[in-house]
Amino acid sequence: MSGPVTIGDVVTAERGDAQAAARVVEIMPGRATEVGGVAVRRVLPKRTRRTVGPWCFVDHFSAGPLDMQIGPHPHIGLQTVTWLVQGDILHRDSLGSEQRVKPGQLNLMTAGRGVAHAEESTRGTTAASLHGVQLWVALPEGTRNGPPAFEHHAELPKVEHDECTTTVLLGDVGGVRSPARTDSPLVGAEVVARPGTSSLPLHPTFEHALLVLEGAVTVEGRAVTPGALAYLGPDRAEVAVMVTGRHPARVLLIGGEPFPEPVLMWWNFVARTPAEVDEARDDWQSASERFGTVRTRLARVGAPPRQ
Ligand code: MN
Repeated sequence: MSGPVTIGDVVTAERGDAQAAARVVEIMPGRATEVGGVAVRRVLPKRTRRTVGPWCFVDHFSAGPLDMQIGPHPHIGLQTVTWLVQGDILHRDSLGSEQRVKPGQLNLMTAGRGVAHAEESTRGTTAASLHGVQLWVALPEGTRNGPPAFEHHAELPKVEHDECTTTVLLGDVGGVRSPARTDSPLVGAEVVARPGTSSLPLHPTFEHALLVLEGAVTVEGRAVTPGALAYLGPDRAEVAVMVTGRHPARVLLIGGEPFPEPVLMWWNFVARTPAEVDEARDDWQSASERFGTVRTRLARVGAPPRQ
């Protein structure tokens, strides 16, 4: 997936509001936009909420029949997390990885100082529906300039709480831990909640957010519609999730310790300073070895101009 390109998406994270946000549920609707011709709902970043733990970008795509063809584009300073509910995407990157990802599987690409990848829906998916999310995790100072890496996890651990079956993508839920790489304290999980009320365990030192992917759900008594984010401040040991409809709901849980460093996001880059963004843009535009080569028939995606 390609990242923020419009002025409205050029953001710098700010801290200091975590304490005021404690114990609140803040409902934030997603914003309709498009990436490579694909209609998406951008849930993060928001002007009022730049990050949730190290999570700095969330796109939810559920537009029905579509054909995703996103050519090679670069990333720095982040991990991309690709998770599907329906459909099938082929990932290729400049490390030589070529990996299909299917529902219930995790593709995790660590950009470090630079990587490029291409993503396309497969032939079988084009005629069907593609439903899923792509998220970015900001890398901490210790690894953001490190080597790139790619992981695929076909099997992930599951844990039961009340009416919920939770698949742990990253970090742990109630002590059940994913094998996937994490570079800072965080959690990412998909919760399938059956009708009724459930209590999910949280890390009290984390801030969290729930993204409803499908179904009718209330979070701590507040209705949350699909595509909207319910932000929960820190100091919570659990969250009450109620499914109000007759059908199960699907919810994504993200969280982590409030990110200690301000991040600068521009296009597909997560950096700290404008100079780092300028250098990464120049390196991509000049086809520098920094980002390598992706073996694909799709055309490279050029960077937008710097303002
Ligand atoms: Mn991408």
